[in-house]
Amino acid sequence: AVSGVQLKDGRRIPADRVIIATGGRSYPLTGSTGDGYRFAAVLGHTITPLKPALVPLESSTPWIREVQGLALKNVAIKVLNNAGKTIYTDFGELLFTHFGVSGPIILSASTHLEQADSYRLLIDLKPALTPEQLDLRLQRDFMKNGRKVFHNALTELLPRTLIPVMVELVAVDPDKPVNQINKVERQRLAALLKELALDITSLRPIAEAIVTAGGVAINEIDPTTMESKLVKGLFFAGEVIDVNAYTGGFNLQIAFSTGHLAGNSC
Ligand SMILES: Cc1cc2nc3c(=O)[nH]c(=O)nc-3n(C[C@H](O)[C@H](O)[C@H](O)COP(=O)(O)OP(=O)(O)OC[C@H]3O[C@@H](n4cnc5c(N)ncnc54)[C@H](O)[C@@H]3O)c2cc1C
Repeated sequence: AVSGVQLKDGRRIPADRVIIATGGRSYPLTGSTGDGYRFAAVLGHTITPLKPALVPLESSTPWIREVQGLALKNVAIKVLNNAGKTIYTDFGELLFTHFGVSGPIILSASTHLEQADSYRLLIDLKPALTPEQLDLRLQRDFMKNGRKVFHNALTELLPRTLIPVMVELVAVDPDKPVNQINKVERQRLAALLKELALDITSLRPIAEAIVTAGGVAINEIDPTTMESKLVKGLFFAGEVIDVNAYTGGFNLQIAFSTGHLAGNSC
């Protein structure tokens, strides 16, 4: 059973109830450096593997650096694993950074990825349009802008910084008049707008993760009190436990709810 805590300077605080609420290992600047995992392990608890969750992703795709700082709203994403299987889909906001991608839907996607694996991220820039509707839209835009050159005809379709990237990827001369763009070229652009691909090489380090996945095994904690099943008088609350969730306030709610329960059960 618990008899108290010992401070760094050697002083002891006697207590017959102790709550470990030391947070995860991510964002160590906030004070949570992962001490609680050590405390729990020393007391015989299982610590499930720790990994970054809700963390930005690194990409080796060269053009990423040209669009850093660009935020895309209302895009759909698909993450494929090495076998080409879709492992995550989402819709919302994405941010390009100097190392890769971030933003709410990327952070949520990261929860499903492994640090050691690589992935392919497909971004649908026009999720509200079917491929057929998009092709009609391009035909209308190109008709309207017939005398403009290609790279000047995309301003209503794409954010400014993304235009040079798309023009290069679609492999059409940027100075080609739009009324000379043929069907195959237009369809190449449409395909790219529906599936802009990025190679994901890794997750950013755990220090940059919003939360730490893994932690004190939940089957060793009584969920009705948050008390350890192994050590009487020892309670757990918050991120130190092996629970984590998507963005949206759920991780704070986990901390509040488990903290409330542990506090009331002491
Ligand atoms: C940048 C950022 C943005 C976030 N945004 C959201 C969000 O929008 N919504 C959401 O739900 N969640 C968000 N989170 C996650 C959320 O903040 C955490 O999941 C939550 O704070 C965990 O609460 P906790 O009490 O378990 O741990 P923490 O809040 O990390 O608190 C742990 C405390 O224990 C202290 N401590 C650690 N070790 C010791 C020790 N040995 N001795 C004494 N004290 C110690 C630390 O100093 C710290 O004060 C965000 C996290 C970060 C980093």
